[in-house]
Amino acid sequence: MAKVYYNGDVNEAVLSGKKVAIVGYGSQGHAHAQNARENGVNVIIGLRPGKSWDQAVSDGFEVYPVREAAAQADLIMILLPDEHQPTVYKNEIEPELHAGNALAFAHGFNVHFNQIVPPADVDVFLAAPKGPGHLVRRTFVDGAGVPGLIAVFQDATGQAKDIALAYAKQIGSARAGVLETTFQEETETDLFGEQAVLCGGTAALVKAGFETLVEAGYQPEVAYFECLHELKLIVDLMYEGGLEGMRYSISDTAQWGDYVAGPQVVTDETKKAMKSILSDIQTGKFAKGWILENQANRPEFTAITRAESQHPIEVVGRELREMMPFVKSKGVVGSAKN
Ligand code: NDP
Ligand code: MG
Ligand code: MG
Repeated sequence: MAKVYYNGDVNEAVLSGKKVAIVGYGSQGHAHAQNARENGVNVIIGLRPGKSWDQAVSDGFEVYPVREAAAQADLIMILLPDEHQPTVYKNEIEPELHAGNALAFAHGFNVHFNQIVPPADVDVFLAAPKGPGHLVRRTFVDGAGVPGLIAVFQDATGQAKDIALAYAKQIGSARAGVLETTFQEETETDLFGEQAVLCGGTAALVKAGFETLVEAGYQPEVAYFECLHELKLIVDLMYEGGLEGMRYSISDTAQWGDYVAGPQVVTDETKKAMKSILSDIQTGKFAKGWILENQANRPEFTAITRAESQHPIEVVGRELREMMPFVKSKGVVGSAKN
């Protein structure tokens, strides 16, 4: 079993006297900043003027342009969208890095794929909660935490791992458990998980199920409930008890259907596709495509997003959710990212 760190294993004193700049105040940023502040960390925020800036000010933080925040801080946590990080880093953070500072990330993409190359005399680490930012905050307030990963890319001070663990503790992750990984493992498994299973795989599965029922003449509303809405209830059971916990709660008929039908849907071919997806991640092919797509101002991303929003499952879903105010997202539409 890998070593899992909990609150009692972590010495947060390595952060005392340090000023922490959280750069970005979105899904992850607001959660890290508020949780760390409540644990006594000296937090300032780095941003550009705009919506997030106003929010951070109204939440009581000292907010500065990124470069000024970077200049003041001993530890800089970069919580900007991954696509924006390299430019902001180059122009506003790198010029303010001093020997012995720490540079931190919540995802390894830019460092692992060489889009950000930090100087050798700073610590570089990852502290990545394994959950959406809004849950990082909500669970913290509830006295719990979202499990997290830490990794050290560069240890200039000899304390990088301790600092990473202390940071993970202060944002609440060590309440649930912190695992040590590498930038490579975090980046590759995160991308694979969201592509093959969590986002890509699940969205495609849901759509294919919905389309199969609707094309066979069943009502779209029924298909929506069956293939999308109910998924949450099943996933909740898996979250609590694994596959066996889910199978314990469903009917025996459903369980038998699970055994005979599942392998027909996700076949050896599917697994071959997953291996190919993983390989494109490992070779940097996926990263390169996404970086170039951004440099081209996202033509394909935009076209696909537009087409997807017109899919019948979205049209019927929007109507049905209007009638179920209790399932309405709690003000985090578009930002409940993985
Ligand atoms: P969001 O998109 O939610 O937030 C981004 C923040 O950056 C906003 O406050 C935005 O402010 C600000 N920003 C954007 N561009 C600039 C700029 N040029 N200069 C200054 N500020 C800017 O990001 P996430 O929280 O989703 O992601 C942050 C990091 O966390 C990423 O590395 C991501 O991979 C990682 N991560 C995210 C998870 C999640 O739950 N979302 C889970 C685990 C890791 P403005 O209002 O001005 O646009
Ligand atoms: Mg059923
Ligand atoms: Mg991700």
